Amino acid sequence: MSYDDLRGKVAVATKILTKERLIGPFGHPSARVPGTELVAILGHTRDHVSDLAATGADDVILVDLDGAVADDDLGEDRSAPGERFIHTEIYRARPDVNAVVHAHPMGCIAFSIAGRPILPIWNLCTQFADGVPVYESAVQIDTPELGRDLAAALGEHSAVLLKGHGAVVTGGSIQEATVSAVNLERSARLQLMVEGIGEPRVIPGSELNDESLTVGLSRREYVDAQWDYWATEVGRRS
Ligand SMILES: [Zn+2]
Repeated sequence: MSYDDLRGKVAVATKILTKERLIGPFGHPSARVPGTELVAILGHTRDHVSDLAATGADDVILVDLDGAVADDDLGEDRSAPGERFIHTEIYRARPDVNAVVHAHPMGCIAFSIAGRPILPIWNLCTQFADGVPVYESAVQIDTPELGRDLAAALGEHSAVLLKGHGAVVTGGSIQEATVSAVNLERSARLQLMVEGIGEPRVIPGSELNDESLTVGLSRREYVDAQWDYWATEVGRRS
């Protein structure tokens, strides 16, 4: 995939995450530029005011793994997000990760505060069955050192909650990280609903395949069907 294609996909991810209210003035998706040490990440306007629903490829900027801006033609109104070190240090620690979403969704934040696990209860969100750890600090992850702490808390999992702050979800592609981020938040909210009426009953491991998806659901179906649907939806609105 070319860099321009990748920027376009990060822009679509931004629009999906905005529609789902996972990101707003803060929060950002990113993707590793294949074969490089560079990261394509949503740039912030300096005053944090922009219409994210109208995000385009030009709003996606390049940073290197040290967090330095690597965009030659970055306009004066754009800057790298302060929490870019969430992304850069996860890419450094996890060669299998090609995309990262950092968001601040209320359902996930509720679980981070309560210290109670998000459970595999919904058949479109079992890929976190190995657990979603919690990073026990609410500070902004705005230095490489803090980024490394967060990457250590993530470990080999696919997502990590930040106590009283938000969530970080990884994927093998920007499409996967986006779909998983949306579904993790939906699952958290579903669990809150369930806990209002009874005890959550988890989907057992016997009903999951070796990718932790529910039996009968391929990763391609899981990622592509949802991404294509949502991308079409946000495309109609722009
Ligand atoms: Zn944040």
